Amino acid sequence: MSQFAHRDGELLVNGWPLRRLAERVGRTPFYAYDRGLLRARAAELRAALPAAVKLHYAMKANPMPALVALMAQLVDGIDVASAGELQVALDAGADPREISFAGPGKREAELRQAVAAGVLVNVESARELRQLAGITQALGLPARVAVRVNPDFELKGSGMRMGGGAKPFGIDAEVVPALLRELRPEGLAFEGFHLFAGSQNLKAEAICEAQRLSYELALRLAEHAPAPVRSLNLGGGFGIPYFPGEQRLDIGPIADNLRALAERAARELPQAALVLELGRYLVGEAGIYVARVLERKVSRGQVFLVTDGGLHHHLSASGNFGQVLRKNYPVAIGTRMDAPATDSVSVVGPLCTPLDLLAERMALPEAGEGDLVVVFQSGAYGATASPQGFLGHPECVEVLV
Ligand SMILES: *Cc1c(COP(=O)(O)O)cnc(C)c1O
Repeated sequence: MSQFAHRDGELLVNGWPLRRLAERVGRTPFYAYDRGLLRARAAELRAALPAAVKLHYAMKANPMPALVALMAQLVDGIDVASAGELQVALDAGADPREISFAGPGKREAELRQAVAAGVLVNVESARELRQLAGITQALGLPARVAVRVNPDFELKGSGMRMGGGAKPFGIDAEVVPALLRELRPEGLAFEGFHLFAGSQNLKAEAICEAQRLSYELALRLAEHAPAPVRSLNLGGGFGIPYFPGEQRLDIGPIADNLRALAERAARELPQAALVLELGRYLVGEAGIYVARVLERKVSRGQVFLVTDGGLHHHLSASGNFGQVLRKNYPVAIGTRMDAPATDSVSVVGPLCTPLDLLAERMALPEAGEGDLVVVFQSGAYGATASPQGFLGHPECVEVLV
């Protein structure tokens, strides 16, 4: 499942043997993100998607500043979800005209920063709209707004649903027309719509259907808009495989679907750019989490590899980040890549809780003190999505290699 190569039994991160990389980092545990894999993923996607579709990076998936700076060069824009992320995106050199800001609870101070920066705000409530109108007056600078719509449909088969039904995200589609009428008198610069139906989806057909429905909903709403639609953000939701039996997402049908939508848009919404915003799919497979084995412990016949890393750095690999049933992420002994998987082991962390589990009864090569355990598919929702303060262990390091 992993995209990482190995040589002489050792995993390679963009050409660096893992042990040497660990020495270079100076301590374990750490996350390592592979520039070569990041570039390759963005290039593959660009080659597959129609040229008319803009690709944005949703930096919530991985906000490491050096990585965001690299991504800013590889994609057309950055999507942020807080003023903190906005700052990182601006520092990374992203063009403010191509930054958009979403999130259900934007504080007035954050909205003010966004307007001053000149980024597009995805408005998610009438309250945000009122505050943006006030900020427009105060700064003498029209707020750039897109309306984030909570659609009247769901993205089927998503790990996390973020649209359809009752949601804290966006504005319910049926009340959007009334809200659109307020935009012009308030002096706001309307630019378009944003729809984001869900996350971690591996079914191309479900994604295509959500994109079609999103396009059609936006087209209907555009009749009520005070200005032509210039940006239509169709969301994303592209998933990556984590668990045995999961099939890689097939991009081909999604690209065909987008080509058809882009042709329609050229006629029906001629000023609109279609935008995709992806987090996990762009960065998730390019990252690993590395922890050192402190000891190999046997309890009543069961083997435990106790490592210096765990759920405080990698909540999702422990199964506690939104999963219903715990399953093992792909894990390897990065210092014994050629050895046969003859041991059945559980990989645990140093936290004094049974939740601190990185792999449960997994077949792995026999490993001991000093070996490096690698958790793959760790480039998204890792370090910043984990409770690093829990139990007072050291924070993890992140490197871009
Ligand atoms: C979380 C989020 C994303 C990124 O989702 P991925 O599953 O990582 O691609 C994109 N857009 C919005 C609005 C989000 O909230």
